Amino acid sequence: MKIAEILKKKRTLSFEVFPPKPEVPMDAVANTLNKLSRFAPDFISCTYGAGGSQRGRNLELCATVKNIGQIFVPHFTCIGSSREDVIKVIGGFMDLGAENLLALRGDYPPGWEGTKGDFSHADELLVFIGKEFPQLSLCAAAYPEKHLTAPSFESDIACLKNKQDCGASFFITQLCHNNAALEQFLEKARKAGVSAPVIAGIMPILSREPVIRMTLSNGCSIPAELAEIMGKYDKDPEGFAKAGMEFTAALIHDFQKLDIAGLHLYTMNKWEALTTILQSAGF
Ligand code: FAD
Repeated sequence: MKIAEILKKKRTLSFEVFPPKPEVPMDAVANTLNKLSRFAPDFISCTYGAGGSQRGRNLELCATVKNIGQIFVPHFTCIGSSREDVIKVIGGFMDLGAENLLALRGDYPPGWEGTKGDFSHADELLVFIGKEFPQLSLCAAAYPEKHLTAPSFESDIACLKNKQDCGASFFITQLCHNNAALEQFLEKARKAGVSAPVIAGIMPILSREPVIRMTLSNGCSIPAELAEIMGKYDKDPEGFAKAGMEFTAALIHDFQKLDIAGLHLYTMNKWEALTTILQSAGF
């Protein structure tokens, strides 16, 4: 089923999983998805290793999602890819029955100045996939606090509108811990002509280091309430996790008052904390 069709009827709830390391069996991810199936997710997105690393495992992950009866949405990054590479990899997803795909440029590996492939940005990839695989419903990435390398917020919003014009029928946002920032972004995007549904990406706050790493690497802000938790529970991981889960549940609650089309939670391949958070948020 096409996610764009589901989004016409309801606000979605979805999860993101990533392929485990080569030596780790898929069972743990399958278990996570089985446990989270109680929330009846509308789809499961499967991340793509930067530069195509773990490529085979990505397909295996999508197959795992499909086998447990959920809709899979593969992520695909075009860094370092030729047109032929794109056709081959996406052909693999099509053979598995993909109807949706998140089309991304991907991050430059250290030392790279360009993509070293046939596509410079996600917009070109969207156009190409749209021509080669017109049956796919395409999604693209959105950045509520702007992409780290974008020269300005306005230019990044213009790129977002361009991705819509190039075939993205819905967007999923980068993680955002800041309700006010998401609200302002949505207002500006709508004013700029972005009419496609925007699903909010949420990273559960469970431990200090990943929050610091992910916010810094993505250029996201840490609102005062979260900064307070980080300071207060500096040496208390359990206290941090409890306060972080409460913060995430409150964020989910607040996001639902905004013009979002769905909630997309990064599971980090874990289910226990996510279950607690979703139940606290009223799911
Ligand atoms: P683009 O849309 O190409 O944007 C990249 C930068 O270029 C931005 O600054 C933008 O403003 C600018 N830009 C865009 N179009 C143009 C243009 N035509 N001309 C000039 N500048 C332009 N990474 C992974 O490796 N694997 C994943 O599975 C993965 N999943 C993700 C899922 C989501 C929901 C999100 C939000 C990100 C994900 N990422 C993933 C990270 C993503 O690959 C990086 O953020 C990457 O740096 C940008 O990808 P993009 O598709 O947004 O690129």
